[in-house]
Amino acid sequence: MFIPQDVINQRLNKQIFRLISESADELSLETYIIGGYVRDIFLYRKSSDIDIVTVGSGIKLAKAVAKKLGKHVKVTVFKTYGTAQIKYKHYELEFVGARKESYKSDSRNPIVEDGTLEDDQNRRDFTINALALSLNGERYGQLIDPFDGLQDLQDLIIRTPLNPNITFSDDPLRMMRGIRFATQLGFDIYPETFDAIKNNRKRILIISKERIVDELNKIMLSPKPSIGFILLEKTGLLDIIFPELTALKGAETKDGVGHKDNFFHTLIVLDNISKSSDSLWLRWAALLHDIGKPSTKRWDPKLGWTFHNHDFIGQKMIPQIFRRLKLPLNEKMKYVQKIVSLHMRPMQLVEEEVTDSAIRRLLFEAGDDIDELMKLCEADITSKNPQKVSRFIRNFKIVRHKLKEIEEKDKVRNFEPPIDGNEIMQLFDIGQSRYVGVLKSAIKEAILDGVIPNDYDAAFQFLMEKAKKMGLEPTGSSFKKDV
Ligand code: ATP
Repeated sequence: MFIPQDVINQRLNKQIFRLISESADELSLETYIIGGYVRDIFLYRKSSDIDIVTVGSGIKLAKAVAKKLGKHVKVTVFKTYGTAQIKYKHYELEFVGARKESYKSDSRNPIVEDGTLEDDQNRRDFTINALALSLNGERYGQLIDPFDGLQDLQDLIIRTPLNPNITFSDDPLRMMRGIRFATQLGFDIYPETFDAIKNNRKRILIISKERIVDELNKIMLSPKPSIGFILLEKTGLLDIIFPELTALKGAETKDGVGHKDNFFHTLIVLDNISKSSDSLWLRWAALLHDIGKPSTKRWDPKLGWTFHNHDFIGQKMIPQIFRRLKLPLNEKMKYVQKIVSLHMRPMQLVEEEVTDSAIRRLLFEAGDDIDELMKLCEADITSKNPQKVSRFIRNFKIVRHKLKEIEEKDKVRNFEPPIDGNEIMQLFDIGQSRYVGVLKSAIKEAILDGVIPNDYDAAFQFLMEKAKKMGLEPTGSSFKKDV
């Protein structure tokens, strides 16, 4: 195997590595850079997280290195784990003693003993993550690659160093990590490794939801997230961790009429949105946009397959999904709900008629998220019929144009009606009666329908007329306006 020594030498030609090397030699500690940092050298990826493993005390080595780096450099020691961390410039250096691990079946936390470099490489999850570079004197920059990780990097392969059944059974999080690396790097999972994920899939149940969702989010933020979801589905993991997604699978046909497979459609939409947006939450909205389809699917002899209200039902399903996966139950979730609930609107608008009032309502409901909603709608065009696609694109252009025009004219995005409930109560001296709500929403509706413009005077005039019809007189103490 050809080792690109010049690439290694170039990356190791740094003061920080020289200082670690000096300290290690002075303490006679066999020391290596290991794991992700070494892998990323060969992938030409920048990385500032550096794992240093030493055959001996990582804490002792970290203290010696910090001394050389200067007085201001602090060492954070994690005694329970026997590790030490140094933050220096943009680097995060983690020092640990080489260790040997053994596992019990009910936990992913190993029993740990001191070990050799070989022991430490054996406990790594994938061959590409088990590469080590020596930092000691004469051996400075020498690659230790017992599992042909460099070859796997070249062949774009994710493979465990040892028996994959044991590797995954010991720590089932590795199954998620493997799929995540395959997605981030565009690598294939080696057949034996893949089969072992399949066999051990149920072991994922011992992993905390937080760790699973951490990996899911990394898959979501990859250039082509569908790779990960297809692997999760094929290995059977998806059915365990996210059954709402596998429920989207399948395309039924009745009387010669079929519908699309909503699982693959969803993944195309997710990949499409990932080309136009880095937002994790917009990507979540794309993943969940049709999640209400399985439970709303009906066969209608006249209409064919229908999914009425799937936007509404989908939006309702989101809190329980977020709660189960331990995703945040805050404004991020509300945002995903909002996008999912509105994702059919621009298309419906086009199919019916692009009236000003329909545009105003959409702008009002979407607020500042209107642009991201439109991005999702465009990503949602997955038809294979080029005529259909160009018609949709043309129509969305019209909607976008109209949105801009109405927003400039009426400023209804995020608008608050110009007269609020307090003012209505004072004007008519009616306290918190039901009239307040009726009048307030009448003003809002009149503005959205374009009956009146979005300004105070018009709203006031409208309010007076409406109140009069309801038998209310403006007798309140704050009534100053001449009507
Ligand atoms: P990323 O930074 O993208 O999350 P990484 O592999 O570079 O990935 P870490 O997750 O911090 O960074 O892991 C550092 C190294 O520790 C890995 O390269 C691997 O060698 C080892 N490692 C991490 N998690 C595990 C695990 N669950 N099982 C075995 N080895 C692991």
